[in-house]
Amino acid sequence: MNKVYNFSAGPAMLPAAVIERAQAEMSDWNDSGMSVMEMSHRGSEFMSIAGHAEQVLREIMEIPSNYRVLFLQGGASTQFAAVPMNLLRGKSSADYLLTGIWGKKAVAEASRYCDVNLAADASERSFTEIPSPETWSLDANAAYVHYTPNETIGGVEFHWVPDVGDVPLVADMSSTILSRPIPVERYGVIYAGAQKNIGPAGLALIIVREDLTGEVVEGTPAMLNYQTHADNASMFNTPPTYSWYIAGLVFDWLREQGGLRAIAEVNRRKADKLYKAIDESDFYSSPVRADCRSWMNVPFTVADGSLDAAFLAGTRQAGLLALKGHRSVGGMRASIYNAMPEKGVDTLVDFMKEFESSNG
Ligand SMILES: *Cc1c(COP(=O)(O)O)cnc(C)c1O
Repeated sequence: MNKVYNFSAGPAMLPAAVIERAQAEMSDWNDSGMSVMEMSHRGSEFMSIAGHAEQVLREIMEIPSNYRVLFLQGGASTQFAAVPMNLLRGKSSADYLLTGIWGKKAVAEASRYCDVNLAADASERSFTEIPSPETWSLDANAAYVHYTPNETIGGVEFHWVPDVGDVPLVADMSSTILSRPIPVERYGVIYAGAQKNIGPAGLALIIVREDLTGEVVEGTPAMLNYQTHADNASMFNTPPTYSWYIAGLVFDWLREQGGLRAIAEVNRRKADKLYKAIDESDFYSSPVRADCRSWMNVPFTVADGSLDAAFLAGTRQAGLLALKGHRSVGGMRASIYNAMPEKGVDTLVDFMKEFESSNG
């Protein structure tokens, strides 16, 4: 097999060491005689896998003890509804900071349960920036404030935590979780689909402050009630066991890399190299305002859009995969999550320079 670098936005590449370990343990986990896929979720083997994953995650993210960690199904999209169902707690409105297409989907779903106040809205700027906090219209009576710290499609990232006073802050961290240290104690709820920076699709991670569980909107299904899952250690029903196991291997790998501080340095360097290559050339450009450019998803365009197809064909030939931009924005997008080696970014930058010199 030729060496390839997969720049897919999700499902995305996993660390090679994780895939190798999973392969070695595939048919017989730890002399159990079983694959993890075949184990009872209530058996002692899987319980140890599950407990270990949570313990290492708590360690690397420094999750305070008054937060519950849930390993659930349904992806991040299910949380678009679960968040209002669990967090409205008798209130009738919630604030949303809208900086991209995923946030828009969260707003659409929340609108079915409450009044949504768009406290910030970057849609008129084609989601290329974060509106300045002075322009936000936060409501001190809102049930919560929801935002998307990294918008995967537009490539817009908050490099700071919004100050929302005492109102619980809720974050869809699907494409930024584990990319750097974050102050978990500033959040009411953090949720993420696994397929970007955690592990295989099919798993969603929810980190919820204990005092925010237990009071749900009438009619909330048991499966969408955080309390159900907190009371049952995420085993109210059958959890996505294999994805949970692989997530645990990813957490082990992150700890071996030196944890989130160490991976953040690598991520910053990778992003800097790519943006520098884009900014130094008149041939490539980034649509995103410089102070909100994502470390994880880097959309860029080629000056002459008719060269897109040739660019993509060339990258594929060079083993640089999945660089086509999202269908809603076009151009290119390089997703450079934790598992993308720095060498992959270097190879892409080299390709970009070569392509420019033969087509610019
Ligand atoms: C990928 C993504 C989602 C959707 O995740 P699913 O697991 O497919 O539901 C939601 N929000 C963000 C920010 C994402 O990147």
